[in-house]
Amino acid sequence: MTTGIVYHPAYLSHEQHPAHPERKERLSYTLDQLEEEGIWDDPRIIRITPAPANEADISAVHSEEYITFLRTMSRTGGYIDFDTNIPPGLYDSARLAAGGAIAAADAVSNGSVENAFALVRPPGHHARSGMGAGFCYLNNMAIMVRRIQKNGYKKVMILDWDAHHGDGTQDIFYNDASVFFSSIHQSPFYPGSGYISETGYGEGEGYTVNMPVPAGTTDVSYRYLFTKVIEPLAHEFRPDFIAVSAGQDNHFTDPLTGLALTARGYAEMMQRAVRLSGDICEGRLVAVLEGGYSVEAGLPYTNLGVIAAMAGMDLTGIREPGAYETLLSGAVDPSAHLQVIETTRDLSAILAQYWRCFRDLA
Ligand SMILES: [Zn+2]
Repeated sequence: MTTGIVYHPAYLSHEQHPAHPERKERLSYTLDQLEEEGIWDDPRIIRITPAPANEADISAVHSEEYITFLRTMSRTGGYIDFDTNIPPGLYDSARLAAGGAIAAADAVSNGSVENAFALVRPPGHHARSGMGAGFCYLNNMAIMVRRIQKNGYKKVMILDWDAHHGDGTQDIFYNDASVFFSSIHQSPFYPGSGYISETGYGEGEGYTVNMPVPAGTTDVSYRYLFTKVIEPLAHEFRPDFIAVSAGQDNHFTDPLTGLALTARGYAEMMQRAVRLSGDICEGRLVAVLEGGYSVEAGLPYTNLGVIAAMAGMDLTGIREPGAYETLLSGAVDPSAHLQVIETTRDLSAILAQYWRCFRDLA
């Protein structure tokens, strides 16, 4: 198995504020960890250097008005919302992040690697066609999906496992039956959407699936959702490509969220996504980094676990950050899994209208 890792040193240059949670240390610590583990020397890993996304790729997702707004504001600086400033030069940073997602899509499309992970920032999944939000400016995932389709792979399944609902991505593909959007996220939580009743619109009805989970949810529930929802749906939808919005902010050490996943849990989740892509679409899988704010304790370990799983490495060495292990029990809510089972039952009843796999279960 060969795995492409897309990275550019300029991914460290974007900065809203040195104390902002979406800061350059998110990636610099991950890079240190990859270096320490000798990932770059592994023959299964191919390094990919991206170029900025071009206007055609960006316009395939974003409105001309918004692109002009971003470009103009990034000359002088401006802001979108209270936690999403536009620092000078932002448009170039955002174009390079989107270009990273494109580079991953192209490398897998043309077979130069089997799967690829774009380690980019700023993230993208809260950005809609006409406006950014929540640390996001251009929707890297959506731009990547449109590029995949341009490369000839028409049906794409998005799995967004960031702790926050991927509202921007959902909105962009809400009435599009060629793109299946699925999301597991903490709820109730920012951005306030992602209920099981949100299933798509018009031609896209049935092609959006939301799996909200409560604070304190652990690896067990994510495994359960893969078995009960994601895998059956993927087998029935039969995508040509699987695209993961890899938000690593579900880790039990993340300071912004309340979930309780482990680095090993992340690695196993990606291992299942990789297997699924092998069963359904000849292993074509791309991942793009979204959130993840535990810069020292969570992010380097989850990113390493995800990369190891993508490259088919032995996962037994994937461990939790030792000094933080005692935090795990405090993050777990033992009743969360019962809630997840209940929500899954209600969700399955809704999805049975659209998908045979849920009717068979009834
Ligand atoms: Zn997030």
